[in-house]
Amino acid sequence: PSIDPPKITKTLCPYCGVGCGLEIVETVAPPHANFADRFKVRGDRAHPSSQGMVCVKGATIAESIQKDRLLHPMMRDRLDAEFRQVSWNEALEAIVDRIQQVLTTKGADALCMYGSGQFQTEDYYIAQKLFKGCLGTNNFDANSRLCMSSAVSGYVKSFGADGPPCCYEDLDMTDCLFAIGTNTAECHPIIFNRFRRHHKKNPQVKLVVVDPRRTQTAEVADLHLAIQPGTDIDLLNGIAHLLVLWGKCDRDFIENHTTGFAEFSDIIQIYEPEFVARRCGINIDDLYLAAKYWADSPRVLSIWSMGVNQSTQGTAKVQCIINLHLLTAQIGKAGSGPFSLTGQPNAMGGREAGGLANLLPGYRFVANPEHRSELEKFWGLPSGQISDRIGRTAWDMICGLEADEVGLLWIAATNPAVSFPDLERTKKALRRSPFTIYQDVYDPIETSNYAHILLPATQWSEKTGTMTNSERCVTLCQAFHPPLGEARDDWAIFAEVGRRLGFADKFDFQTSAEVHSEFVQITRDRPCDMTGISHAKLADMGAIQWQAPEQNPEGDRLHNKRLYGDLQFHTPDRKARFGAYHAQGVFEAADEQFPFILTTGRLYGHWHTQTRTGRIDKIRQMHPHPFIEIHPQDAEKFNINAGDLVEVRSRRGASKFPAMLTERISRGVLFVPMHWGALWAENAEANALTHAEADPDSKQPELKACAVAISLA
Ligand code: SF4
Repeated sequence: PSIDPPKITKTLCPYCGVGCGLEIVETVAPPHANFADRFKVRGDRAHPSSQGMVCVKGATIAESIQKDRLLHPMMRDRLDAEFRQVSWNEALEAIVDRIQQVLTTKGADALCMYGSGQFQTEDYYIAQKLFKGCLGTNNFDANSRLCMSSAVSGYVKSFGADGPPCCYEDLDMTDCLFAIGTNTAECHPIIFNRFRRHHKKNPQVKLVVVDPRRTQTAEVADLHLAIQPGTDIDLLNGIAHLLVLWGKCDRDFIENHTTGFAEFSDIIQIYEPEFVARRCGINIDDLYLAAKYWADSPRVLSIWSMGVNQSTQGTAKVQCIINLHLLTAQIGKAGSGPFSLTGQPNAMGGREAGGLANLLPGYRFVANPEHRSELEKFWGLPSGQISDRIGRTAWDMICGLEADEVGLLWIAATNPAVSFPDLERTKKALRRSPFTIYQDVYDPIETSNYAHILLPATQWSEKTGTMTNSERCVTLCQAFHPPLGEARDDWAIFAEVGRRLGFADKFDFQTSAEVHSEFVQITRDRPCDMTGISHAKLADMGAIQWQAPEQNPEGDRLHNKRLYGDLQFHTPDRKARFGAYHAQGVFEAADEQFPFILTTGRLYGHWHTQTRTGRIDKIRQMHPHPFIEIHPQDAEKFNINAGDLVEVRSRRGASKFPAMLTERISRGVLFVPMHWGALWAENAEANALTHAEADPDSKQPELKACAVAISLA
């Protein structure tokens, strides 16, 4: 008898912004078998971004599908009461009643939604239509605010529009990879592996790593600049100073394709090598060498992530990286360009769908009256329906709760009770919320403790939709089993609430493919034009990179790989802008009382607050407990030995971690991973220590640096 071939479903790894294609092979295990036995995960060799590669997170993900799922809607009247299971109808009616009550008593700006880069683009889009369109408040923000909003504002200020101009193929073609504020080897491992193949094969290719820690990325660098936290702009301006001094600028490019060079060259004058080396705490010869690599490499690709973005000068840092590319004409061509690595799997799709409080779908801005008007017409809403007020950003929602200005908070697919800065203040504010809806996949999660209603959402394995990765590649993520329990797709929950609020005609969607086809129309003639992409085409052709306008329906990948090949930027005069900034250092400097700078980050195996990876045995064994990295000489001063429990205190709170003594970290600097919340370890929350001061443009908090003191616990 013939045996049916195994069923294979193509989808995308839902963890990080690398966006690796996955194939799910359904085995012949009986239908009631554990999902990890029934569904085998492997890399999709045909996916253009990852070519079959996956890291440990992608490889083990099937183990987390069934564990600790939230299966039914739950409600309670008070935070100290027990949840009771309710029907979807009861939960949705309670939400609709509450929204109407808040609209009457406090107005639309008392409604807030905090979403996630875990959303598919369809989820993002329907949430924008509901909140920004129908309800008339821009109070939608996402955890991308904590992740890459500085990259957005930096790109917008320099190029007139968001959108990383590079693609992963540039990793195979560059002569110098300048990695600043990114531990790519651990946090974007498949991107790093791809570059390393090129790096190993071509000894003339250089890797420069800028990071206060000697990370796994720095271990294999040709040059590691272990700068002091907060001195990135000193370094970047210092390299620019040397390039100008050596006459290594492309004067024609600067003249014809940029503005702002005069002010920039005034600023960088003071960044002389001795001054910069002293401020950064690096050897002056290393500074010269970094500048020499920039000067001598025909193609320089810079990459960065949270180490740059999570800063009170995040936007300025991004622009200072871009400045080096503008000085040397390293943009719009293969192997070069400023490439922001996105953290979340679909933070890019969120940007396209307008999923931040200052954005509207299709790379539009709340502050732009034409953009608001275009959307009002598209959505069939009265003129003036979209508010001209920029909505509350993530931290503004906390401040709004403190001031009793929030009547309803809807949190979906993210865990702010671990990931927000200044956690004690965050938790106190969440406890004040008069009505919080928490929509997620798992239970328990730390944030469930602050909810009045829990809504069960489907996750990557049981919902179909699109995600865009760091290189603007859109992939169709296809469901491979029915939803567990009563879980529903995020977009479908938002649409149902919209219909019950009286907007039935605006949310008349049966499938996510229908949502997607409306969404792409809104991108027509915008920088992120995706009118040539549909679910059907993605299923047929595989992932497609934008720009992908309708007139180019085949998604000509060669054409779409890089932005700005024509050197026409999205500013009114089509020229890129130099950004001129002095370095201001970290917001909270070390002092006598708090003599260390604490920096936080991620580990190879874990993902964010462990809602998935904490439920995967192999990953828990890989990273069994939190720790703090301390330089041995610093530890000696405090009589701290390896493994001792160390209490770490900041102006906001305290946590305890076992000590790991290592010269990977510079003296005066400490490192703790950000993955452990109250569910996974006692008193080991990194964000109990961090502060919420943010970049003035991007509103991204400075999670990467705060002043702390240590002692034996
Ligand atoms: Fe998933 Fe990122 Fe690992 Fe790729 S690199 S398998 S997207 S976690």
